[in-house]
Amino acid sequence: MQTHTPPIILCFSGLDPTGGAGIQADIEAIGQHGGHAAPIITANTVQDTKNVNYFEAIAPGIILQQAQSILMDMPVSAIKIGMLGSSDTAEAIHIILKQNSHIPVIFDPVLYAGGGSSLSKSDLIDAIKRLIIPHTHILTPNIPEAHHLTSDTLTSEHAAQKLNSLGAEHVLLTGTHAKSENVIHELYSDRQCIKSFKYKRLSHEYHGSGCTLAASLAALTAKQTDLVQACQTALDYTYKSLKNAQSLGHGQLIPKRYS
Ligand code: PLP
Repeated sequence: MQTHTPPIILCFSGLDPTGGAGIQADIEAIGQHGGHAAPIITANTVQDTKNVNYFEAIAPGIILQQAQSILMDMPVSAIKIGMLGSSDTAEAIHIILKQNSHIPVIFDPVLYAGGGSSLSKSDLIDAIKRLIIPHTHILTPNIPEAHHLTSDTLTSEHAAQKLNSLGAEHVLLTGTHAKSENVIHELYSDRQCIKSFKYKRLSHEYHGSGCTLAASLAALTAKQTDLVQACQTALDYTYKSLKNAQSLGHGQLIPKRYS
């Protein structure tokens, strides 16, 4: 048996059969950062590299039992949450978060697929705000998600500040959807932008970029990396995996997470 055990990250994510997004992205990214992913599927999806056509949420009772078994058995150092799909799933995960409030939560509030299809049912936004965001250590919305969650259409800065006020300790707002020449990601804590990260804009569209980023952040947080350094390392890793992304289907490119 090895003496050095990797940090364990409990992941709640959807299954994307293209292998670009969802739980596969988590497992690959977390492995690359030296962590071990304990995967729990929240939803099954029917999709290709262009869009999501259908999804079915997994029964919340199974999700709850799976998480409780893992948490009783393994020393989980971080929890990563991606696609929730339904408010019942959010209720089940909320129970886990309340019982394990010492474990940092990294939450990618997945609401839409890259191709534009909704990955959430209508009452999910309210459940996310009430049940998950107040337990979140780092929230990683993109600009449309930040506006959607806050019903704030003023500025992305205002929306990020509101997400801090709703209880997300830190908000890493990803800037891909802005019209700017470069892509600027911003880290908000206590309603202030404490750091921005600038990257050259890449020309393609990708399937699983947000998942790669949040899973990386979860692994780095589990390793107790300082917040700003964790954001920098996770963003650098995600950028590299997008730059090397491969065209494996007829739609968006799939990040190459293995070096
Ligand atoms: N999780 C699942 C299961 C998905 O199918 C998708 C998109 O298709 C996402 C998350 C979000 O993907 P991205 O990281 O590209 O925002």
